[in-house]
Amino acid sequence: MTPDVGDILQLVTKRTPEGDDLIKRAYAFAQSAHEGQKRYSGEPYFIHTFETARTLAEIGVSPTTIAAGFLHDTIEDAEIDPEDIRKAFGDEVLFLVEGVTKLDRVRYRGAKRHNESLRKLFVAVSQDLRVIIIKLADRLHNIKTLDHVPEEKQIRIAQETLDIYAPIAYRLGIRKLSRALEDNAFKYVCPDEYQETIDLLKEHKSTDEKRLSKFIRSLQKTLASHSITTARIDYRRKGLYSLWKKLKRKDKNIDKIYDIAAVRIVVPTISDCYKTLGIIHNTWRPLPGRIKDYIGFTKPNGYRSIHTTVFIGDGNIVEIQIKTEEMHQEAEYGVASHLAYKEGKNTKKASPNWDWINHLLPRKKQAHDNHPSQPDDVHNDDDIPQWIKELVVYQNEQKEPEHLEQAKGDFFEFRIFVFTPQGDVIDLPIGSSPIDFAYAIHTDIGNHINSAKVNGKMVSLDTPLQNGDIVEIVTRESREPSTKWLDYTKTTLAQRRIRSATGTTKKK
Ligand code: MN
Repeated sequence: MTPDVGDILQLVTKRTPEGDDLIKRAYAFAQSAHEGQKRYSGEPYFIHTFETARTLAEIGVSPTTIAAGFLHDTIEDAEIDPEDIRKAFGDEVLFLVEGVTKLDRVRYRGAKRHNESLRKLFVAVSQDLRVIIIKLADRLHNIKTLDHVPEEKQIRIAQETLDIYAPIAYRLGIRKLSRALEDNAFKYVCPDEYQETIDLLKEHKSTDEKRLSKFIRSLQKTLASHSITTARIDYRRKGLYSLWKKLKRKDKNIDKIYDIAAVRIVVPTISDCYKTLGIIHNTWRPLPGRIKDYIGFTKPNGYRSIHTTVFIGDGNIVEIQIKTEEMHQEAEYGVASHLAYKEGKNTKKASPNWDWINHLLPRKKQAHDNHPSQPDDVHNDDDIPQWIKELVVYQNEQKEPEHLEQAKGDFFEFRIFVFTPQGDVIDLPIGSSPIDFAYAIHTDIGNHINSAKVNGKMVSLDTPLQNGDIVEIVTRESREPSTKWLDYTKTTLAQRRIRSATGTTKKK
């Protein structure tokens, strides 16, 4: 059965006739492009592009990005000529589709790189936040259908999802997506732990659910009697993977975890948030030390909400989160919830769009963050990659936009990412030469480097490599390192090896 494009249209936040038309045309184009293709599951390939587009619509991105979601595999897997996409959908959609295609061609395995540098690479290659979001939505459907993929591929894809994709979704604040990615990957990476977590949760759940519904009913009544009538009250369950990580810290004692389910109260205004907190504390006794005001003191990642944990009278305690609708949307959908796209502008030149970095930065300066403990669905600060932290610190010190430019430059111009002919990634300091590259692969390759090809063309050994270059090294057994190479290298690794091979001990 062919899925209905109406299912996606109704999810679009700001519908316009043009937006609807774009989505409908992309739907039809993808359907005919992938005609006859099947996935491992036997399902028509089109289902995959449809589900990718659906996730994008749920996240709340624009019709342009949803259209690109439909088309994301047409170049790579349906051999559609990019010119045809340009003719039918324009430069911007093509730019996004080509961005995703480029990301697909990067292989993360092979070189044992640190996850953080892979995440950086992922971001650097993407160039535009929308490309990353499409790729995350694509990965979500892939991981949900992983059962049908050959076994040897499953673990690699799941591990990569946990190491790279979920943390990026998390850092972009798209928590809904990061939870879904984590929980689906967790099952394949650690099947035993996954089952153990489910079993622990099952034992816990039956009483939990009844208890929560009962508490929510009395909460509704109490708030209504204080004229807070517009509150939407529900609860969210902790993701399995993050529950597992927490269980490990708590000796696997699930009773020590208070936020397996947290009650969420959504009220119209900030003053309603505080009013609600007062009413709750007046009715149920709060657990000392668990009251966290992330509205007054926004978390560095931008998270806003008031948390408290109360005794609900039957000997149990429950965590409560109080927030406005806007705060809720931000917490679930992050940058995607309020990203202002510069749609329609000519992105043919594919100049990187770094606007999204602003959304990773704190909303306001933390004057005195005296909340040492973290809300439990937020990762510890240690989980925040250092390079993001650096950007954040920079931004706190220097508010002017030109300094932000500087901060972006400092980071992205500090390293380059180059590829082996097999597509493995080597991360080098800027200005590195083929000699640095050769030593980064293997000492023997460095010691016997004879010549190098960059993007298929022969270059001299002192040529500075550029971001994205594909570098091929030709070795000759008789070739020996020379002290002159020290001038051509930037990495300490290469210089150390050259000194030891040439017997040069003095530092240049
Ligand atoms: Mn895909």
